[in-house]
Amino acid sequence: MAKWVYLFKEGKADMKNLLGGKGANLAEMTNLGLPIPQGFTVTTEACTDYYNSGKKITDEIRGQIFDALKVLEEQQGKKFGDTENPLLVSVRSGARASMPGMMDTILNLGLTDAAVEGFAKKTGNPRFAYDSYRRFIQMFSDVVMEISKAKFERVLDEIKEKKGVHFDTELTADDLKEVITEFKALYKQEKGTDFPQEPTEQLIEAVTAVFRSWDNPRAIYYRRMNDIPGDWGTAVNVQAMVFGNMGDTSGTGVAFTRNPSTGEAKIYGEYLINAQGEDVVAGIRTPLPISKLEEDMPEVYQEFMRIANLLENHYKDMQDMEFTIEDKKLYFLQTRNGKRTAPAALQIACDLVDEGKITKEDAIKRIEAKSLDQLLHPGFDIKALEAAKPVGKALPASPGAAAGKVYFTADDAKNNHEKGERVILVRLETSPEDIEGMHAAEGILTVRGGMTSHAAVVARGMGTACVSGCGEINIDEEAKYFMIAGQTVKEGDYISLDGSTGNIYIGDIPTVEAAISGNFDRIMTWADEIRTLKVRTNADTPADAANAVKFGAEGIGLCRTEHMFFEADRIPKIRKMILSKTVEAREAALNELIPFQKADFKGLYEVMEGRPVTIRFLDPPLHEFVPTEEEDIAALAKDMGLSVEEVKVTCDSLHEFNPMMGHRGCRLAVTYPEIARMQTRAVMEAAIEVKQEKGFDIVPEIMIPLVGEKRELKYVKDIVVETAEKVKAEKGVDIEYHIGTMIEIPRAALLANEIAEEAEFFSFGTNDLTQMTFGFSRDDAGKFLDSYYTTKIYESDPFARLDVDGVGQLVQMAAEKGRATKANLKLGICGEHGGDPSTVDFCHRVGLNYVSCSPFRVPIARLAAAQAVLSNK
Ligand code: PEP
Ligand code: MG
Repeated sequence: MAKWVYLFKEGKADMKNLLGGKGANLAEMTNLGLPIPQGFTVTTEACTDYYNSGKKITDEIRGQIFDALKVLEEQQGKKFGDTENPLLVSVRSGARASMPGMMDTILNLGLTDAAVEGFAKKTGNPRFAYDSYRRFIQMFSDVVMEISKAKFERVLDEIKEKKGVHFDTELTADDLKEVITEFKALYKQEKGTDFPQEPTEQLIEAVTAVFRSWDNPRAIYYRRMNDIPGDWGTAVNVQAMVFGNMGDTSGTGVAFTRNPSTGEAKIYGEYLINAQGEDVVAGIRTPLPISKLEEDMPEVYQEFMRIANLLENHYKDMQDMEFTIEDKKLYFLQTRNGKRTAPAALQIACDLVDEGKITKEDAIKRIEAKSLDQLLHPGFDIKALEAAKPVGKALPASPGAAAGKVYFTADDAKNNHEKGERVILVRLETSPEDIEGMHAAEGILTVRGGMTSHAAVVARGMGTACVSGCGEINIDEEAKYFMIAGQTVKEGDYISLDGSTGNIYIGDIPTVEAAISGNFDRIMTWADEIRTLKVRTNADTPADAANAVKFGAEGIGLCRTEHMFFEADRIPKIRKMILSKTVEAREAALNELIPFQKADFKGLYEVMEGRPVTIRFLDPPLHEFVPTEEEDIAALAKDMGLSVEEVKVTCDSLHEFNPMMGHRGCRLAVTYPEIARMQTRAVMEAAIEVKQEKGFDIVPEIMIPLVGEKRELKYVKDIVVETAEKVKAEKGVDIEYHIGTMIEIPRAALLANEIAEEAEFFSFGTNDLTQMTFGFSRDDAGKFLDSYYTTKIYESDPFARLDVDGVGQLVQMAAEKGRATKANLKLGICGEHGGDPSTVDFCHRVGLNYVSCSPFRVPIARLAAAQAVLSNK
């Protein structure tokens, strides 16, 4: 019989895959002899089994859960549902990778009409017992039965009003009994059945709810954002309750062993006296700093610090811990490696290396490559900031500067972001349902909540600026406005947030590029020592290229030459070329473009100072260049001595039903060889001139796009070689150059051994290769991919994260076939995937020479390339 349930004492830290992160750590802490409320873990495999069994928990698993429960009852000396001394438990999810806020928690499970009496008797505190029961009904109804929390809040508010009190804590035991009666009536009204009075039924329902929540839309979204496979499943932890809400010698809190925002090596946390579990993170009351605990309960504080240090030294990483004090007795409820901002991640990694606790390799493995993005994010323009006056200040929950238009719902934020607006999401407090809106936002502002509130934790993880807990704000989310410092801010008004200071401004303050700390250079140097993949950049302008070099780019892997033609002084010339009726006319138009193209290439070569530069020849369908505005059409007609009608007819004739599979890529050079001639001349003359003027040894790499057949490549290559040799002869200069191709069409991958005969390098154009392999239009797939995620047909966007199973096979095959023909064939990738860490890992494994990505992702790729070496050792 398979083992589906483990007591904490049966597990270990290295059983994360089976017990989830939380379960494995609870087991480890139990083994370390720490004060952990005992319990058991239902495994991730049980979750998988639940889905495989048609969303049912089998009798075998049920049996094992009840067996473990029996052991727990004996350990605790309490009984489930008992009228004298009932056992209460918490039920919490715990996947392999922590998914904060995505899964659901239930506290006080086991309370029933009968058990609450026993609980009141045993604790001698009826008020506390009834309060626990009403919280449980509310949480169970919300999380397990999906009855809106707000309905319960409304009932509670009505009773508070009736009793003339302001805070929950002012309600008496009798008041709370009334609340319970009303809550149960509400439950019956919503569900048509009584609130379950059998604790084992409550437990199985709760475990089911955790399993079910693994597949809620928020969890699916979070997994997609964080590359977490859907088949991992979540474990469920059932743990004996301890109570932080038993009076003023009790409390509950969250703490980090180092500051998760800055990385400062100092305990950092918050707690609330007389509060339970979620009160701290939910941000309804504003918590106290952990340092205050030293004054309130010095012995507890000392014990807390002893264990916190022990845990950090044990795991050799910054810990994020939850604890509860029940009548002066301290319990740890969980520990895990804490989420942190990118600056904090670098600081902590460097400090731990300096403290001799971890190696440089460990440091490299620890830092989430994607998070480096945050470091490169903007701050405010100092001058503009000096001129601005903050209208309020709250907690600096997640660093960075953000300015945008205010929206009050996640949907509004998301929709207006999609329309191209910069948006700021303003909420009373955020909840996991807001995740997509939070992701769309430049910044997040909340009225409630501390540094460990949902908004703060999630924003830090995403690298989005966040200011939280701004109690000065009066907000009306429904009417879509808020008031601060006597001013009204309506939907669509601009505000600016400084997530590093907590300042709030009205208006749109300009932002500037980020400054990078010394830790960044240290980590990048370590990464560069380890990695074997080279990192290039995709850049079409000297400014972008210069930025990329600053971030460590070792060359240009893709210069899309068509981008150079869209500027106002060039587009009329390319239009003239396209509309030319004869070769001579076309050549004349192209000759006008040569000086521009040459100047562009010279600019790039100069910035790159002799580093490799791959120039990709004209690629897009020509209709992208033709005029659509009447006045542009008229200007073109005049310039070419044609009638407006003639121009319109020619433009119409360029229309294609399937332009992505139409007259584009090397097909343009096959039909109009003079385009390739012009581009070759510009590439070669620019290289020769920069060599002569600046002394850089430029070896241009000319890249022919969208090839599907060896003869096609050879045809274009011959034109390039003929022109290049002609330029060399004219200039009397011998200069090396390379000609290669992109692998973007499945046929090219299949016949890579033949194509390699004509190519000196391959660069995988995985944007088109993905498009052609899936048959998904890269411009339209967004419209239907969401349905593929929710139905779990696909887990991630194949245009962002390389589909290793399908497209990856083509890449690997083409690499192998290409190298079988030409052992020294240089291989790279220049699709958008080049800056995605999981794709970088794949590229390392299949032996590519380099990845090429947008400038801001160069550091991510450098780090990911080093991580690939370490994880594939
Ligand atoms: C590609 O297809 O992956 C590529 C890099 O080319 P483009 O995106 O310009 O089509
Ligand atoms: Mg392409």
